[in-house]
Amino acid sequence: MSESSIRIYGDPVLRAKAKQVREIDGQVADLVEKMVVTMRENQGVGLAAPQVGSLWRVIIARPDTEDDTEIFRLINPRIIAAEGSQEGMEGCLSLPSLRGEVERSAQVAVEAMTLQGENVTIEATGLLARVFEHEIDHLDGVLFVDRARPDALCWLIPDPDVEEGYRLEQTTMKEAEQRFARLRAKRRAEGGS
Ligand code: ZN
Repeated sequence: MSESSIRIYGDPVLRAKAKQVREIDGQVADLVEKMVVTMRENQGVGLAAPQVGSLWRVIIARPDTEDDTEIFRLINPRIIAAEGSQEGMEGCLSLPSLRGEVERSAQVAVEAMTLQGENVTIEATGLLARVFEHEIDHLDGVLFVDRARPDALCWLIPDPDVEEGYRLEQTTMKEAEQRFARLRAKRRAEGGS
């Protein structure tokens, strides 16, 4: 799996509604493994099945990219309770380099099934709650830019001259759409998806 296997903004699969998984079979297990590999390769904190072109309700998330041991692999996840709010910067592997301010719930409870078919309820706060909200949105074709403050969209530009290693440059959704359309055209020309 390469970076180019991640579906980029403008791909209709990212706007479709994913279907409930009825049976956890080998295909679902293979999908989850493919997603884990893709997330690791791209240093992501989460991924939803539509981002690799699959319309099943499957997400993965890891609260800490440094500690790779705890990866949540969730089938048919849904938020059953949400409380409070948090503001924060968000990005998405399907909208590379774009960042936006998104208000999310501060705490969520997510009900889902594990790959073993067990029902679980996970309570999450902070970043993990944000990741769950972001990834579950993907299953309904909702992207973080739909919820981001339109005047606070930025490109994250690597910059070794500043302490953080990057700087932020303000942009608009229109400019972002044009950049992603060019990126998709380039990948198609290279034979990717
Ligand atoms: Zn995303």
